[in-house]
Amino acid sequence: MDLSTYHSHCDFCDGHAPMEEFVRAAVAAGFHAYGISSHSPLPFYARCAMRAENVEEYLSCIDTLKREYAGQIELYAGMEIDYINEEYGPAIAYFRELPLDYRIGSIHYVTHPSSGRLMDMDGGEIGFRTALAEIFDGDLAGVVTAYYDASERMVARGGFDFVAHLDKVSVNAERIDPSITGTRWYHDRLISYLEAIAARGLMIEINTKAYPGLGVFFPHRRYMERIRELRIPVIVNSDAHYPWAINEGRAEAFEMLRAAGFRHTTCLKGGKWTEIPIGE
Ligand SMILES: [Zn+2]
Ligand SMILES: [Zn+2]
Repeated sequence: MDLSTYHSHCDFCDGHAPMEEFVRAAVAAGFHAYGISSHSPLPFYARCAMRAENVEEYLSCIDTLKREYAGQIELYAGMEIDYINEEYGPAIAYFRELPLDYRIGSIHYVTHPSSGRLMDMDGGEIGFRTALAEIFDGDLAGVVTAYYDASERMVARGGFDFVAHLDKVSVNAERIDPSITGTRWYHDRLISYLEAIAARGLMIEINTKAYPGLGVFFPHRRYMERIRELRIPVIVNSDAHYPWAINEGRAEAFEMLRAAGFRHTTCLKGGKWTEIPIGE
């Protein structure tokens, strides 16, 4: 089982400890590599996002730690970049020009197709219910459609290495309608999204953040065999916001991949995405 993760947060965004505490936890857990990926600045105020004026310090902090921990662990400068719309996402020049080692494409906000109002689809249940009523007039299928529409546009524009928590909208959507992810319509939508990712040669992460609490990975285990058939490279990431969480759900994710017939996961080695055998 490969020990590395490329999706992590720290106190430059909504992580709950300084960057170095996460790095120390990764060294103590025997990780060979650790990627730091704070939430990107956004074109509006959001509590969870890094502010644009802190990006320089963020990058220099990672550089300092890379030097201090050289020989103990490979550290990488990443960023979880929000796709908002055609004007703001991983493909824009601002993000392409940042000296990052890799980029994550991520959707947390969806846009109502006619009003243009933005909705945070990733908050808690109460916030989701309120925004669903106020912004989407209670149209849950509309939110889910807007989420996968935005996801497919993000993939078409590119500018990143892998897709974050591919079907995360399922958590809040299922709180409103537990049957929604079991519908033919939802299934077909997800499969066509996976096909678009494969056609673009992008990778996806197996995000383990919700596993301890909800028992689910993103993407859901029901899509693993299709992902393998499409030969989409997978990276197992913990999306940790606390240093103690960097390894949460990892063994279970590898077990799931093994059971679905995967032979490899992907990690950064010497700065290059490299396939690593899953092993027994
Ligand atoms: Zn995220
Ligand atoms: Zn994240």
